[in-house]
Amino acid sequence: MVESTSSRWLVLDGYEDEPAAFGVPPYVGFHIRYLCGVLEQAKIEYDYVTIDQWRDFIRVEGEDAASARLSNVTGVACIAGAVVPGRYLRGTPISLKETRNIIRQLPAQVPAIFGGWAIRGWRQQGWNPLRSNLFLAVQDTDATLSNFIQTGQWKHCRRTAEQWTQWAHCGANSKAVTQHPDLGDEENRGPLTYEVEVYQGCVRYKRGCKFCIEPKKGVPIWRTPQDIIKEVRLAHDAGVEHVRLGGMTDTYTYMAEGVQELEYPIPNPEPIAQLLHGLREDERLGILHTDNANPSIIAEHLEPSEEITKTLVETLSDGAVLSFGLESADPEVHQANWLNCNAAQLKSAIRLINKYGRQHGERGLPKLLPGLNFIAGLNGESSATYEMNLDLLHEIRNEGLLLRRINIRQVEGEGFQEIDSELFSKFKNTVRNTIDGPLLEELFPMGGKLCEVHWETHDGRTRLAAHQTESHTGESCRGNAGITFGRQIGAYPILIGVEYHIPLETQSDIIITGHGARSITGVEINLDHNRVSQKQLEAIPGIGEKTAWKLISQRAKKIRKSGDSNAYDTPQQWFKASNIDWNSNFSVFLG
Ligand code: SF4
Repeated sequence: MVESTSSRWLVLDGYEDEPAAFGVPPYVGFHIRYLCGVLEQAKIEYDYVTIDQWRDFIRVEGEDAASARLSNVTGVACIAGAVVPGRYLRGTPISLKETRNIIRQLPAQVPAIFGGWAIRGWRQQGWNPLRSNLFLAVQDTDATLSNFIQTGQWKHCRRTAEQWTQWAHCGANSKAVTQHPDLGDEENRGPLTYEVEVYQGCVRYKRGCKFCIEPKKGVPIWRTPQDIIKEVRLAHDAGVEHVRLGGMTDTYTYMAEGVQELEYPIPNPEPIAQLLHGLREDERLGILHTDNANPSIIAEHLEPSEEITKTLVETLSDGAVLSFGLESADPEVHQANWLNCNAAQLKSAIRLINKYGRQHGERGLPKLLPGLNFIAGLNGESSATYEMNLDLLHEIRNEGLLLRRINIRQVEGEGFQEIDSELFSKFKNTVRNTIDGPLLEELFPMGGKLCEVHWETHDGRTRLAAHQTESHTGESCRGNAGITFGRQIGAYPILIGVEYHIPLETQSDIIITGHGARSITGVEINLDHNRVSQKQLEAIPGIGEKTAWKLISQRAKKIRKSGDSNAYDTPQQWFKASNIDWNSNFSVFLG
């Protein structure tokens, strides 16, 4: 809750969003939890508020109420993690304007600490707020806050290994979890997904990809499986169900051998198996997904990588994605930017993951598939680069290999070269049309079933405050005209649209009925034929507007006559009475 009567610290979750640190709802990020962990450990009272809750508070109560609230806090600690907030379905990271407003409204004597990648990015862009007792953390925000609490002095600090464990554990059942709006309760479980930090850094720390900041962190520091399992157990005690293992630049090099000596350290199957099986032992664990992988490591060490892949397929929930950072298929770009893998290594890694991961799992998704990342704007890039990228993608597809997602992003600024925007959009469009489209249809075939879709918005792809009210979450909206969007829980879920309203924050199973550019449409299974609305009927393939209307009028007539709201025992009887041919394809929808 935003309102507080007594003076406490305010922990404001502005959401982090990095490839290895998800924190936009339904995720709860680890850095915000560490901040809460510091306060928990120091036994300091605080409130946890997400930036979306803060926005709602201002919308309902006004700016004056926000100022009044801020004048009654002991201190403010905030993580701002997305430099340019993108489009999100369920929450939007804090913007620079909002950060400025909060700082302006905060009384001068109140200490405030802001950390996260957005703070560093905004500073680099020239943002330099002048205010006493305001600290912009560029190292570990949690360690800096802890130092301030103990000494009253602001100073950039790094956490020790011991503090890392302590704050991870104290944060696991802190208010960032127990008061997170996506946690839900016993009856209505929310989609909250707990992002865990498994390790820091990259094994390519000596000569890593030039555009990447990970090598600057030095030799990777791992957390032990026991330490992580304990943290997740504490989170389960607080009600958490779903977990993503983040903070891994490469799942396969977790505790690898020869990190300091070898160019390609040797994957170590034992610790990752201990971690994954250890987490699975707790029956409270729901969805479990993981993070990135380095294709060159997999390709150079196929044997231990095969063992790790089998463990991943055994323990992860279906729909798991291993993002592969190829960045470019052009050998010149590869060399100029010290990239991590070449096209041959990539194909070899994709083959291995496909061999074990392509079969579908319980929720209807391929168990484990690679994702592929491209970057435009790297030094040495030319028109030939885009051709090579496309050729490689076609080769992968011609071999019948599957990719879950292709991510194409642009990098700009110092150290990068200018992007030919025409070439770039041509490349992007060709990938979307010739690779993504067919892949989507293969991964999510027509008539396929997807289970446990969590419904999140109505009539648009952004969740609004109104969507949390009874008119959108209650049974009364079921079957009304409009569109409902939802996703399955886990990493990189496909967006699913259904052409009628379903109460939000509920879950149901669907049959795939169509494909969009990067989304699919579906219809729920087992609709009650005595309750189904005209819009629900129209959404079923083979039932058009006229047929739906005929069916609805026939049912209404029967109810009027008999006075019984259960008009027909079976949908077949209903169709017969309406002079409409029954098609066995309807059975799955009208149970
Ligand atoms: S392999 Fe990945 S994490 Fe390592 S330097 Fe390259 S991009 Fe960064």
